[in-house]
Amino acid sequence: MEDKDKRSGKTTDVLASTQTVIKKALDKLGYPDEMYELMKEPIRMLTVRIPVRMDDGSTKIFTGYRAQHNDAVGPTKGGVRFHPNVTEKEVKALSIWMSLKAGIVDLPYGGGKGGIVCDPRDMSFRELERLSRGYVRAISQIVGPTKDIPAPDVFTNSQIMAWMLDEYSRIREFDSPGFITGKPIVLGGSHGRESATAKGVTICIREAAKKKGIDLQDARVVIQGFGNAGSFLAKFMHDAGAKVIGISDAYGALHDPDGLDIDYLLDRRDSFGTVTKLFKNTISNEELLELDCDILVPAAIENQITEKNAHNIKAQIVVEAANGPTTIEATEILTNRDILLVPDVLASAGGVTVSYFEWVQNNQGYYWTEEEVEGKLEAVMVHAFDNIYKLAKGRKVDMRLAAYMVGVRKMAEASRFRGWV
Ligand code: GLU
Repeated sequence: MEDKDKRSGKTTDVLASTQTVIKKALDKLGYPDEMYELMKEPIRMLTVRIPVRMDDGSTKIFTGYRAQHNDAVGPTKGGVRFHPNVTEKEVKALSIWMSLKAGIVDLPYGGGKGGIVCDPRDMSFRELERLSRGYVRAISQIVGPTKDIPAPDVFTNSQIMAWMLDEYSRIREFDSPGFITGKPIVLGGSHGRESATAKGVTICIREAAKKKGIDLQDARVVIQGFGNAGSFLAKFMHDAGAKVIGISDAYGALHDPDGLDIDYLLDRRDSFGTVTKLFKNTISNEELLELDCDILVPAAIENQITEKNAHNIKAQIVVEAANGPTTIEATEILTNRDILLVPDVLASAGGVTVSYFEWVQNNQGYYWTEEEVEGKLEAVMVHAFDNIYKLAKGRKVDMRLAAYMVGVRKMAEASRFRGWV
């Protein structure tokens, strides 16, 4: 979310970093420069200004974005984040990552992403409703079930999806559940969607642990972030018999080498994933990342593992549940230290995979059981992990570059067949 790393002062521009890896992936696959020119930016980027009547009677104008990276494969797809640090560049990078995720798990989509510069922690329920509805009115021309399908992301949830769906259905004058995913079950949401990102991360952790010969039973796990992905993941790891020895939120981190009481923490967290404020003995997020552990999962925001702290990471496996938590320099350092890094575009693809299942169920009007959803997710994630792991070994590249190679390939082929490049 920020272009400067606070400690090093070095630029941590997520768009520039993703462009660098896209270029490398396209070069490895033998595509010409024109293909990179097409892929390096979204094909469409809309900036909107959203006036919202606040509870005290004043009007506040919010800035929002919707980026559509590439629609050669199919409609674009991706979440909407509500956060004070949202920038145009970040939303662009996030839309590119969504394209890569769709390619990696082989969905018939391109990537999209939205964001609103706001702090939902300081807004009332009704103010959030008016903001969500205003955003949909502002972007309604470019979204839709066969154009661009939004979903939850940082600080957005099923209630916000419900308001957005209702607003869209009013504008179009028909109910259109396939317009958005991550909805409440009663409005056409899918079983297993809420926990899908964490389920996908769990599958990647299990597969990576097998490769490293680590037994998940009693493995020491550190999770940065206690939002949707981090909190479900803590539960899944705890249930798998692993010891979650560290967790954090935006305000600090908790550490217990004997394992934290995850059920208690889940019970006490608020809807934004804040829990550490209740404790006196906290450590910083920086300290958390360098804890002695077997598996480290950054599940918060961008640029957390940089060249400053990559040398001090003790984990043998780093699985990125957040988007963009590790810089390019840090990726190289971790790889050289033989730490297995499972990149964001693979590890966090479980969310959009079950979003796709939700959209399919909406389109056919026939709904699946939780077991069906989870069985299909398991198959998709295991296949994607194996595919990328093998490619990384075969081509002697790190898993991030291998994931980008898999992620861009279908989109590049589709763009070529359409005669764009
Ligand atoms: N926001 C999630 C992501 O970054 C999910 C997107 C979706 O379900 O479309 O992958």
